Amino acid sequence: MTYAAKAVAITGASSGIGEATARRLAADGHHVFLGARRTARLDALTREITAAGGTADFRRLDVTDAADVNAFVSAARERYGRVDVMVNNAGVMPLSPLDALRVEEWDRMIDVNVRGVLHGIAAALPVMRAQGGGHFVNIASVGAYEVVPTAAVYCAGKFAVRAISEGLRQESRDGSIRVTLVSPGVTESELADSIGDPAAREAMKSYRAEALPASAVAAAISYAVSQPEPVDVNEMVVRPARSAR
Ligand code: NDP
Repeated sequence: MTYAAKAVAITGASSGIGEATARRLAADGHHVFLGARRTARLDALTREITAAGGTADFRRLDVTDAADVNAFVSAARERYGRVDVMVNNAGVMPLSPLDALRVEEWDRMIDVNVRGVLHGIAAALPVMRAQGGGHFVNIASVGAYEVVPTAAVYCAGKFAVRAISEGLRQESRDGSIRVTLVSPGVTESELADSIGDPAAREAMKSYRAEALPASAVAAAISYAVSQPEPVDVNEMVVRPARSAR
């Protein structure tokens, strides 16, 4: 299906859910602008989308740097004239029990998963206000609804993304800014590669045995983005059907 083309900026587009979302939204007819640190992957994905007849471009992005996120959003606006949708997707998940005191990993999760989303809002909100509207799609997790051992800090970050998204929605009730929180269950991606703690890494193998394809989460995002302007899809939880959690 083809929709009215929107300009969509996606953070963390070099793998997993972000990559699948870029493919899906480009196939829907939207113009995608991709950010992540691994630019060789973004370059390859941009070429693939363009070769298939879509519109894509990319810029190196580190979401922990507010100025860099501003430059990314500015580049997207320069490229397409507007930023209709900002997908705050970049994330890391170095799980460990709190007793392991992996403080640097806690900080990294807060920097990428929470500050990164805030930086995305700070960069795109003024652009959306100035152009008369826009749509944030923030990627949380089932960990935004419950806490499990080894995931205290990861879940704290995702609870925060849920709170921030709801706050943004409530402050945008003139209807010009839409806010969608998409919370995936276990999904095929490279996310578990960031787990350094050996026990948590081992435990994740069975936990992650039942996984959604990343394209299933991308389809949920596509649904929210394709709704007519008066419709604001606020929260979507997408799990593997066999998932207990
Ligand atoms: P991946 O590891 O495959 O993708 C993560 C993406 O984030 C990569 O593109 C990575 O790019 C990017 N990223 C990481 N750090 C930064 C940074 N500092 N600046 C910019 N980009 C960064 O995992 P997923 O696709 O699974 O993760 C996407 C989102 O989905 C995350 O927010 C995650 O928490 C969430 N999620 C995933 C679930 C799953 O089971 N897969 C379940 C629930 C939620 P690069 O390294 O090139 O910078």
